[in-house]
Amino acid sequence: MLAATQIGIPSLVRIKPGALGRVGVYLARMRVAQVALLASEGLPRAIVEAIDESLSAEGIALVHQTCVEDASYEAATALAPRLPAACQAVIGLGGGRALDVAKYVAHLASLPYVAVPTSLSNDGFASPSASLTVDGRRRTFGSALPRGVVVDTAVCLGAPRLLWLSGVGDLAAKVTAVVDWKLAFHARGEPIDDLAALLSDATVFQLAGRPVRDLEGERLLATALLLDGVAMEIARSSRPASGSEHLISHALDRRSARPRLHGLQVGMAAYFVSGLQRDSRARVEQLLRSTGFFDGVREDPFERAEWLDALAHAPSIKEGFHTVLTGRHDLAERFERFVEEDPLVQGCFV
Ligand SMILES: [Zn+2]
Repeated sequence: MLAATQIGIPSLVRIKPGALGRVGVYLARMRVAQVALLASEGLPRAIVEAIDESLSAEGIALVHQTCVEDASYEAATALAPRLPAACQAVIGLGGGRALDVAKYVAHLASLPYVAVPTSLSNDGFASPSASLTVDGRRRTFGSALPRGVVVDTAVCLGAPRLLWLSGVGDLAAKVTAVVDWKLAFHARGEPIDDLAALLSDATVFQLAGRPVRDLEGERLLATALLLDGVAMEIARSSRPASGSEHLISHALDRRSARPRLHGLQVGMAAYFVSGLQRDSRARVEQLLRSTGFFDGVREDPFERAEWLDALAHAPSIKEGFHTVLTGRHDLAERFERFVEEDPLVQGCFV
């Protein structure tokens, strides 16, 4: 008989305008009376005040507050033991870095975690891992999914457009990641979790069908990225959300002088690798083209030489991880042709 898999998925999910001002109400329903708040530095005052007011309106005490400046493993592990014993939950508020630290601190302290992202630049707000730096370089640490995800779509709509495009790039990566997973199954018998693969693949369609950045566009992106986190939890693997395109981005993070936003790197990498895969090109292209992704990249083009260097190292970055890059010797040549000839990426590399 098959054993049932225990998975931990968010039971509180609110994705709507005005959700920020209701965080206190949601926590009170979870019977939380004392919380820690870990927020990004430099957040607009109005955002922090909205959360403060919503907590005090419900009589919830803020027993610890930290402004996260440093998304390092060292900072997160130093913070966890400093949380007061009375603390019943951890709220992460802001952008990617603060949320990764808050998620990992909650994981170390075995406390429920509520993610309140103020932008949607990648799937990290609801993924079962935390991206933290060790000696200044990004690495991934296993963690738990948040118990709650509260996305105020009006707040996210107020964030810079480039962050939304980065989230779109991370979403496009799901198409190529699932194809790579299937390649690994055929090449090496790596098991596929069919439901996780289906769920991750399906998240792309709604936004692709309505590629507009407005309140509804923020809602569709948030929903898609949240479900990608759930797909990873179901599969107990990053495979549903991360394939060869993420290897290229990891190589850029390690080797380039100035890594760009995660989703911009993986979105562009997904577009490139979709040209090496079968079946993924049209969907990746449609999502990226229709959302204006390439225009966003053109504002601060990538370095062509750094991408060539990253491509040389990407296939070996995760040992035993089979993708469309495995065993290929024509990556540099294919990439040069891609940069020279693909009309969509003209101006995206210098
Ligand atoms: Zn990603």
